[in-house]
Amino acid sequence: MPRRSWLDSFYWRTFEGSPPETVMQLRITEIFHSLQGEARSVGLPTVFVRLTGCPLRCQYCDTAYAFSGGELMTVNAILSKIETFACRRICVTGGEPLAQPGCLSLLDQLCHLGFDVSLETSGALSIAEVNQAVSRVVDIKTPDSGEVHRNDWSNVDHLTPNDQIKFVLCSRQDYDWARMRIDEKRLTERVSDVLFSPSFEQLDAAVLADWMLMDRVPARLQIQLHKLLWQDAPGH
Ligand code: SF4
Repeated sequence: MPRRSWLDSFYWRTFEGSPPETVMQLRITEIFHSLQGEARSVGLPTVFVRLTGCPLRCQYCDTAYAFSGGELMTVNAILSKIETFACRRICVTGGEPLAQPGCLSLLDQLCHLGFDVSLETSGALSIAEVNQAVSRVVDIKTPDSGEVHRNDWSNVDHLTPNDQIKFVLCSRQDYDWARMRIDEKRLTERVSDVLFSPSFEQLDAAVLADWMLMDRVPARLQIQLHKLLWQDAPGH
């Protein structure tokens, strides 16, 4: 029996052998209305669509509850649920939303309907086919995440000024590594924002702020607003 690739193994665990049969169906963990806790639109009312499943296992993951379970929904059912919140700003997140083929159709439809759409993605899967009207918030996994080998560096060539790059930093080593990647890949020339986010309870935000000021780092410090307000409870 041929050995499964890391992504095939993920499909086997999450969807019992294959992703949902039709790209018009997605497995959804939750859809809820809250304030955006991160990135360029922090603090703005937003509807979150959290897709189930992720092929990565970052050591700091705060959404492990989305690794499995969930409910199969058609794109039309997802859109109907979104409409009930009367909110034009949508964040598609996970898990790793791009691991489900139907995510691309969902994003296209949301853009077509005139929503202001963002996508939170791990940076391990290609963003090449994602609608460029979507603001893609692309993680770059650091050494201390435990998943640095998953970065798909070809994504850098697909970034636009509508996109954002996020580094979750766990240590001084991660911070120095991220600064080198900004220079090496000329990231500040490619996206609107490069975000430095201290890993919750692993790196002190004030310490990171001091380092950034000292080094004149061309990045934006972000602290996860939803954790300050709601202590990381699901559904916020
Ligand atoms: S990519 Fe995101 S959802 Fe997946 S393990 Fe890492 S932090 Fe968790």
